[in-house]
Amino acid sequence: MISKKIAVLPGDGIGPEVMTESLRVMNAAAALYGFSLDTVEGLIGGAAIDAEGTPLPAATVELCRKSDAVLLGSVGGPKWDNLPPMQRPELGGLLAIRKELKLFANLRPVRLYPALSAQCPVRIPAGKEVNLLTVRELSSGIYFGEPKRLEEERGIDTMVYETGTVERIAKLAFEAAARRRGKLTSVDKANVLSASMLWRGVVSRMAGDYPDVGLDHMYVDNAAMQLILNPARFDVIVTGNLFGDILSDESAALAGSLGMLPSASIGESVHLYEPSGGSAPDIAGKGIANPIAQILSGAMMLEYSFGMVDAARAIEAAVERTLNAGVFTADIAGERSSVGTAAMADSIIAALS
Ligand code: NAD
Repeated sequence: MISKKIAVLPGDGIGPEVMTESLRVMNAAAALYGFSLDTVEGLIGGAAIDAEGTPLPAATVELCRKSDAVLLGSVGGPKWDNLPPMQRPELGGLLAIRKELKLFANLRPVRLYPALSAQCPVRIPAGKEVNLLTVRELSSGIYFGEPKRLEEERGIDTMVYETGTVERIAKLAFEAAARRRGKLTSVDKANVLSASMLWRGVVSRMAGDYPDVGLDHMYVDNAAMQLILNPARFDVIVTGNLFGDILSDESAALAGSLGMLPSASIGESVHLYEPSGGSAPDIAGKGIANPIAQILSGAMMLEYSFGMVDAARAIEAAVERTLNAGVFTADIAGERSSVGTAAMADSIIAALS
């Protein structure tokens, strides 16, 4: 039987609560699909500060490096907000582990389930579905390019993209699109920016290698508008670091709640999976957090790290069936009645097949 070693980093706030439920669902899927998960827990964030005096102990980095994948909860909370920035859970823990794993792509799927359409701020026409994936380049672009400096009367940032970097992210996006609905939209500003002209040329050249994927290009200003006017037109969006940062947050608003949003960050060898939201200190410890973002992050791990696409799709389908059956946590219930974190996971496990 295939066994995969997973570094489990629950973190702070609702992290441990939703992590427990996500592992229950993953283990149920493993039993159904004939594989097993060897999970080893590590400390990160405020929990690590309290136990070891540092937000990212060396043992956690070591554990992650030796694992097949990392499943992270979330970090941070008011208790640690007054520490110096680099000793805080977010910078010293989360950003540090992302850097250690050399993550170069961030994948953020957004799906508006029909049962949550009233929670979406945009009106979606009947028969249309919002189900898109933003693939954001993480390692390059204007956040890292040189020169970069702040002078007395001038601030300088430089957008740099090189062919190899674009090829690496575009390959990931083409492959993801081939497993989905076969549509890739590359977003850039090629009418103005040289880095975008190079980006567009590289992505266009690669399209020939993926005959089953239809490619189109869109300027980022138009993409920002289309995400509101017609989000159902998108399948996979691939874009650079800055544009991806903005567009992935914009699209996140379509899902109805932060509790619905998983993410995957692809590294050079080990990938990291985590909900898009934070540690939600306002609801931590109450047993009411929505575990779906963490559960779907686990499903992404099965797909992107282990190639277990059937098991991943089964978890996604179980989430959909559960919502269709009228089971909601408080963040997505609206006027409807709601269940707690564990009961939501129970329903998803029962809907697995
Ligand atoms: P947050 O995402 O934690 O919470 C924002 C709102 O969304 C809250 O009302 C919260 O209750 C709700 N929410 C989030 N996830 C939910 C879920 N699964 N179910 C139900 N409701 C959910 O953002 P914040 O309040 O700005 O930050 C709280 C802490 O989390 C801070 O310390 C922040 O630095 C940290 N943070 C961590 C991460 C991370 O670990 N990746 C990301 C963002 C913020």
